[in-house]
Amino acid sequence: MTVHTTRMLIIGSGPAGLSAAIYGARAGMQPIVVQGLQPGGQLTITTDVENYPGFRDVIQGPWLMQEMQAQAEHVGTRMMWDTILSVDLQSGPPFRAIGDSGDVYEGETLVIATGAQAKWLGVPGEQELGGKGVSACATCDGFFYRGKKVVVIGGGNTAVEEALYLTNHSQDVTLIHRRNTLRAEKILQDRLEANPHVSTLWHKKVERFLHDETTGALRALLLVDTITGEESEFAAEGAFVAIGHAPATELFKGQLELDDSGYIVVQPGTPKTAIPGVFACGDVMDHTYRQAVTAAGTGCMAALDAERFVAEREFEAVKLAAQAG
Ligand code: FAD
Ligand code: NAP
Repeated sequence: MTVHTTRMLIIGSGPAGLSAAIYGARAGMQPIVVQGLQPGGQLTITTDVENYPGFRDVIQGPWLMQEMQAQAEHVGTRMMWDTILSVDLQSGPPFRAIGDSGDVYEGETLVIATGAQAKWLGVPGEQELGGKGVSACATCDGFFYRGKKVVVIGGGNTAVEEALYLTNHSQDVTLIHRRNTLRAEKILQDRLEANPHVSTLWHKKVERFLHDETTGALRALLLVDTITGEESEFAAEGAFVAIGHAPATELFKGQLELDDSGYIVVQPGTPKTAIPGVFACGDVMDHTYRQAVTAAGTGCMAALDAERFVAEREFEAVKLAAQAG
C-alpha cells in the first residue's frame, strides 16, 4: 500500500477534473488525478464534438480528452490508474481517499469531478441482455449491429446523436420516445428528420426486452403506448438506451449534501461544498447545463478556489507561528 499526498486531489478525469488539474498544476498545487473506470469521461464514448470552443472543424470526443490529459500531464499533473472506493471527508484536511488498488490518497484539498453515468430503464431483460443486444453506448457497440435493425430509446441530445451515429452501421434505426416532442437541440432534430434511415415511434414506453429462445440474444421490445395503454412488440436486434445520466455520487452519500436527484449541492455560483477545502465541479454538481465546456469551466473554478484555500491556510499558519514566536 502506497500513500500519495498532494495539495490537490482530483477524483475524475473528464473535462472538469482535467481542467482543474491544468489550473492546479500551473498554480503549483502538484495535483493528482485519480482517473476511475472511464479515463477521459463521457466524451470518450462519443464521436463528433461540434460545440467545444476553439475548433472550427468537427473534432472527436476521445481525441479532445487525450489532448486535455496531455496538457494536464505536461504542466505537472500525476495521473493515477485507480478508482476511489471510499473517502473520508470528516477528518480532513487532509482529505483521505482509498483506491481499488489499496493505495491511499491524501489531499489538502479535494476536487470531486466524478461526473455522471448512463441511466438504465430498469425493466425486465435489460441487464440480462447486456452485451447480447442491449447497450447504453452506440459509439462503443454500434459496429456490432452492422446491417441490423436497431432502436434507440430516449428523446434528448444523446438519443438523437446515437440514432444518427447508428445510421453509419444500419439503414434501419428507430428512435422510440415516451412523448412526441424531443428535448434534443433543434439542429439535431433537423438532422434526424432529414435522415432517411431513421424513423420515430412516439408515445411508447419499453415494458420489457424479449430474447430469442435459441440464441439468447435480443429479438424484440415489448412496448406500451403511453396514451392508449395498448401493448405491442417491436422487433430489433440491437437496443440502445439513451435516457440520460445520473451523477456519480454514491461515494459521498452521508458526507456531503445531495439534492433529490443525487447531485452534490454547492454554494450558488461556486464549486464550494459545505466542507471547506472540498469542491465539486462538472456534471456531478450540475443538473442544468451538463456540457463539456461548462464542466471545464467549473473545473477551473474549483482549482482557483482550492488554490485560495491552501494559500489562506498557509497564511494563517505563518501568522500563528509568528505570534507564537
Ligand atoms: P465525466 O465526463 O462524466 O467524467 C467523470 C470522470 O469521473 C470519469 O473519468 C470517471 O472515470 C471518473 N470517476 C467516476 N467515479 C470515480 C471514482 N469512484 N474514482 C475515480 N474516478 C471516478 N457535451 C458537449 O459539450 N458537447 C458534446 O458534443 C457532448 N456530447 C456528448 C455525447 C454523449 C454520448 C454523452 C454521454 C455526453 C455528451 N456531452 C457533450 C456531455 C459531456 O460529455 C459532459 O457534460 C462532460 O463529459 C462532463 O464532464 P465531467 O468531467 O463533469 O464528467
Ligand atoms: P436528457 O437531456 O436528460 O434526456 C433524457 C431523455 O430520456 C428525455 O427525452 C427523457 O424523456 C428520456 N427518458 C428519461 N427517463 C426515461 C425513462 N425511464 N423511460 C423513457 N424515456 C426516458 O439526457 P441526455 O440526452 O443524455 O443529455 C444529458 C446532457 O448532456 C444534456 O444537458 C445534453 O445537452 C448534454 N449533451 C449534449 C450533447 C451536445 O451538445 N451535442 C450531446 C449529448 C448530451 P422526456 O423528454 O419525456 O423527459
